[in-house]
Amino acid sequence: MSTSTTKILTHLQTHLHNPSLSLPHLSQLQSHLLRLNLLHHPHHLTLCNNALRSLISLSQLHPLLQLYSQMHSLNLSPNNFTFPFVLKACARLRDVKLGTLIHTHVLKSGFELNIFVKTSLVCFYAKCEVLGDARKLFDEMCERNVVVWTGMISGYLETGRYQEGVSLFRRMLEAGMMPDSFTIVRVLTACSQNGDLRTGEWIRGFVMEKGMDNNMFVETALVDLYVKCGCMDGARGVFDGMKEKDVVTWSAMIGGYAFNGLPQEALELFFQMERENLMPDCFTMVGVLSACARLGALELGDRVSRLMDMGEFLSNPVLGTALIDMYSKCGSAERAWAVFKGMKESDVIVWNAMINGLVMTGYHKVSFGLFAQMEKLGVKPEGNTFVGLLCGCTHAGLVEDGRRYFKSMCRIYGLNPRIEHYGCMIDLLARAGLLEEAHQLIKEMPMEANAVVWGSLLGGCKLHRDVHLAEHVLERLIELEPWNSGNYVQLSNIYAGNGKWDESARIRLVMKEKGIEKTPGSSWIELKGVVHEFRVGDKSHPLSERIYSKLDELGKELKAMGHMPTTREVLFDIEEEEKEHSLGHHSEKLAITFGLISTDSNETIRVVKNLRVCNDCHAAIKLISLFTHREIIVRDNNRFHCFREGSCSCNDYW
Ligand code: ZN
Ligand code: ZN
Repeated sequence: MSTSTTKILTHLQTHLHNPSLSLPHLSQLQSHLLRLNLLHHPHHLTLCNNALRSLISLSQLHPLLQLYSQMHSLNLSPNNFTFPFVLKACARLRDVKLGTLIHTHVLKSGFELNIFVKTSLVCFYAKCEVLGDARKLFDEMCERNVVVWTGMISGYLETGRYQEGVSLFRRMLEAGMMPDSFTIVRVLTACSQNGDLRTGEWIRGFVMEKGMDNNMFVETALVDLYVKCGCMDGARGVFDGMKEKDVVTWSAMIGGYAFNGLPQEALELFFQMERENLMPDCFTMVGVLSACARLGALELGDRVSRLMDMGEFLSNPVLGTALIDMYSKCGSAERAWAVFKGMKESDVIVWNAMINGLVMTGYHKVSFGLFAQMEKLGVKPEGNTFVGLLCGCTHAGLVEDGRRYFKSMCRIYGLNPRIEHYGCMIDLLARAGLLEEAHQLIKEMPMEANAVVWGSLLGGCKLHRDVHLAEHVLERLIELEPWNSGNYVQLSNIYAGNGKWDESARIRLVMKEKGIEKTPGSSWIELKGVVHEFRVGDKSHPLSERIYSKLDELGKELKAMGHMPTTREVLFDIEEEEKEHSLGHHSEKLAITFGLISTDSNETIRVVKNLRVCNDCHAAIKLISLFTHREIIVRDNNRFHCFREGSCSCNDYW
């Protein structure tokens, strides 16, 4: 070997391991090699393979393929080390045509039975989603290594062929193969996405048996699995047992609580994260803001959002949406609007959040205007956009607008109405007293009506006192959700009201036999960053004594103003909270009273309730807002009520 050749070789070796290697430089080296006819020398096949190995590790895929084609044109026979690099490059470039050509080279050179070459071929086809060919080669192999199992499984999982991927993974373990943590995480993630807790837990058992349960990535994937399957206790169990966790783990847990209806747990965990001096990332932020939104915790949401640069919110649609949503759900349309206007990048989801926010806070007309602007700017609306608009029509009782939007969905935008859209329409018609039309629409729906849809019709029946239809609807509802206490109570009340005492008693008995319990009503109020929770007749609050004496005082004033606890509408009203359980002590009243004694006399009181506000509380709160001159905002499970000077923003329509 001449000195210059050795020099170039050394040069090449050093440079190939230098990540800052530039492409022109590389091709220069290649041409040197060619000029020196180095590639002709059989001794340097090893060298070529080394070069290929270096190029693949540097992700220099095109130079790698060039080098291979030069080798090929110089009739330099590749060997079992050459093909894996070349096929890997084809796989990464998703170049099916070239990879298939290389496959013919493999067959010509007789390396098709070599395990490494065959593994590379399977992985190449799997990566390029040519799964039939991949599986054929895979099945032909009499000896398989971890790499080929992993490649084949990944191919299935990445193309959404979940069942095949998981069953192959089971076979892999049965064959005594030990997957790496990366593969386990990948399979667990697929289980999460498919809500397959059983397979996930089976993998967890394997992981523990093999002592791999101290791997942060595997554990985080397990947390995520339990979260996605709605099993927060399971998630917490893994989380608490982790020796090491990063912000991703925390986010998974916080977001899990928030999205599984446990906002207070989400906030508690977030505070713990703060105490451990961990900075939230985008995902944590979305989880925490969603928890604040659920609890109507405006001050807290505000404080948390300041932990992140405002610019990040405005340039990230996911973050921006979370903030707009939080402000809207806390009843501050102004702040939501300011964020929306400031967004540097808005997608349809951001628009939807703002349209929904406006609807929620009672600005229906503005939301219709925003939709018109959206159309003008050419932002294509999607199904959720119409859910917002139709809800707006429902809240404002705009039947004609509702019909128009519902029709345009399909006719102008080619969107198929989902069950939510039918639900909104039925709600709108039912509230407007068009009960027959609403009932007809349920019968015409292309899908089976669910409890929400029937519930809307029931709402209309109550509002317009159609006891006969209500009876029919409640029977459907009991079929659909046999565990829901409210339906039994209402049906039994209707029977009682019609003099069908036996029927009424039978329903009560069924309830008792089935051990059906009522959903307890809860209300939340935030004070100086702390969220206080109240239940019906709750006496657990430290200020309980003062709250109840204030409540008595309010009761006297209400009486003096002529307010009588409403018992007249008992037929429908014993809905979710029991009447006999003292009307005066419904959770929202306790929360409002606590707000009255704990805040300045000019402050707005914001309360969130998990059930619908009952008629009696609604009437009482209107009067309380009148004689205390307080603005009281109550968000129930249906909408916002903004009580001011004796009236409510819902116009008694909810
Ligand atoms: Zn009430
Ligand atoms: Zn109201």
